[in-house]
Amino acid sequence: MKIGVIGTGYVGLVTGVCFAENGNQVICMDIDEKKIEKLKKGNPVIYEPGLEELLQKNLEEGRITFSISLKETVSQNDVIFLCLPTPPNEDGSVDLSRVMKVSNELAKYINGYKVIVSKSTVPVGTCDRIEKIISKRTKHKFDVVSNPEFLKEGAAVQDFMSPDRIVVGAKNSKASKLMHELYRSFMRLSERFIVMDRRSAELAKYAANAMLALRISYMNELANLCEKTKADINLVRAGIGSDPRIGSSFLFAGVGYGGSCFPKDVTGLRKTAEEHGYDFELLKAIDLVNQKQKHLIVNKIKNHFGKNLTGKIFTMWGISYKPRTDDIREAPSIVIMKELSKAGAKIQAFDPVATENFQKQFDNKIKNVKVYKNSYAALKNSDALILVTEWNEFRRLEYSKMKNLMRTKVIFDGRNIYDPKEIKANGFRYYGIGR
Ligand code: NAD
Repeated sequence: MKIGVIGTGYVGLVTGVCFAENGNQVICMDIDEKKIEKLKKGNPVIYEPGLEELLQKNLEEGRITFSISLKETVSQNDVIFLCLPTPPNEDGSVDLSRVMKVSNELAKYINGYKVIVSKSTVPVGTCDRIEKIISKRTKHKFDVVSNPEFLKEGAAVQDFMSPDRIVVGAKNSKASKLMHELYRSFMRLSERFIVMDRRSAELAKYAANAMLALRISYMNELANLCEKTKADINLVRAGIGSDPRIGSSFLFAGVGYGGSCFPKDVTGLRKTAEEHGYDFELLKAIDLVNQKQKHLIVNKIKNHFGKNLTGKIFTMWGISYKPRTDDIREAPSIVIMKELSKAGAKIQAFDPVATENFQKQFDNKIKNVKVYKNSYAALKNSDALILVTEWNEFRRLEYSKMKNLMRTKVIFDGRNIYDPKEIKANGFRYYGIGR
């Protein structure tokens, strides 16, 4: 099939590359000219395991091209995916300006039957709005479909190539059958195609993210209670996760969730509820707990070192909001850096892939932060190690090297990846979350 992708970011690029990999002809479009130039040369711009190889292979084989032309992307293709940003407004509602603007513009390039697919996470009713906008500007037949994306950054290619479900919200069977045909090659092992009405599909995406965020906030609240009751959240997790009704994934306490999806989708869903006259109280609590949790480790640091941190040097391992991604949107690391810097401390930070993004967005914006190219170099003269993102390479510690480098031997483990007994046996003070 001939596929156009509008918005070539984390979702759009993975979508385009994976459809190309399965034999389709794809044009990925973006307004960012520099990004398109790099993509044309096989540079994926973002870090995502496996993406660069697939991009280069499909470029060479001529199945994927990149463009800044909306006209070309719409007129030359049958299925057009909208993978545009839907960031939060200041009040937490969803900023749909890009989706609406592009819908309005693309209508004039429709030159035959097209399926316009919203992969962006959009509030319930958005596909109806897109349909209305387009129908005012074209006489050609078209369908608008909701196809929310469930990929996880850090495993995006794998998630896209072997999805656990493909949710499609369509108004008629012509559109849903075409979508099924498009995804058939991704479901060779079993049928995972779930068709529903557009509104339910739109809401399903928010429902999934809010449910995952709920699990994290719930575990973080439990962790805080564990600290007061001298219980260990890791053992509590083992004790509940083995119940198949609960399940063991997504039950990790830590410094709070971040990223470009959970925070905005929780507030976005709350706003949708509000607009429909419903006070969704649970969503407020999920968000509130998460805000609080991002400050928790700073409170622990201040309890240990005192409120005024002038002259103190802290090493931060991990800047991205989770491992295996360079995405730093809403990352807890940024909140922690800002708080420590405000209290007078210096921060020596290291991340395996997110440093460049951090420097682009925050260079000189947070005082006293220096980024390092090596995790152990960032420990020089440090008063404490703060583990913020659980990259695999941080899981094993070289204690003798650390002892030689650090000024004081303290570890704040924001993801509970270390064994407190082992840390203490090696002469370090240990602070975890909920243990
Ligand atoms: P992103 O910011 O990485 O990418 C969006 C791209 O759209 C950017 O390259 C930007 O330049 C481009 N763009 C902006 N305005 C444009 C326009 N007018 N015309 C063409 N291109 C334009 O965003 P993302 O993370 O890929 O998210 C896209 C959507 O997918 C959002 O709604 C998000 O909530 C949803 N989503 C994201 C993820 C994720 O893990 N990132 C997962 C599922 C769903």
